Amino acid sequence: MTRTGIFGGTFSPPHRGHIRAAAAFVSEMKLDRLLVIPACIPPHKSIDDPGPDLRLEMTLAAFSDNAGFSIPVKVSDYEIRKSGVSYTVDTLEHFSDPDTELFLLCGGDMFESLESWREPERIFSLASVVGIMREDGTEQEMRKYAERYRKKYGAKCYVLGERALEVSSTLLRTMIKRGENTEEYLSPEVRRIIEREKLYR
Ligand code: ATP
Repeated sequence: MTRTGIFGGTFSPPHRGHIRAAAAFVSEMKLDRLLVIPACIPPHKSIDDPGPDLRLEMTLAAFSDNAGFSIPVKVSDYEIRKSGVSYTVDTLEHFSDPDTELFLLCGGDMFESLESWREPERIFSLASVVGIMREDGTEQEMRKYAERYRKKYGAKCYVLGERALEVSSTLLRTMIKRGENTEEYLSPEVRRIIEREKLYR
């Protein structure tokens, strides 16, 4: 069985917090390959959106040259090509295969909201769900949700040992608007696209 990680998000813009989370996901879950999938229209968020094509370009830039990962990392345009609202359950259906075991990465905020997603029980049957703690969450709280999903849905859930880097796309959009230096959090390639298109100003 190929262990395939799925990492979806808005990626507006993709930052080092995403890369660090993906790296912990790959190493702790011993993945064979990783798919990074920018959403077309995310169901949960209304964001300052430069549009799916630019978010895809930035995500490709952030994960270019395999981003130092030792396994194959592919940025997939599946949700963007499909257009419309991107539901994780549809994406998991699309990538599910008898020779593949799917793992879905969620930051703590997303992990704790899983029951409000479309068809949570189907999501849990298609993939193991893997949470990573973000700054505003506690490990105890995440483990409580994991236990609830196991009991209620028979879900396979994991909470990563690695903690998230304290940064979000929202913070970065604010920093860019204020003209602050984002070098610590954004790769030079991503910053070049933001400069070129004058995004988030
Ligand atoms: P926004 O601030 O616009 O809400 P975000 O920084 O949360 O964006 P998304 O693209 O929405 O970024 O996130 C995609 C996935 O990555 C989500 O599961 C989210 O919880 C997770 N994630 C985002 N930032 C981090 C981080 N710093 N560490 C770990 N996971 C993160």
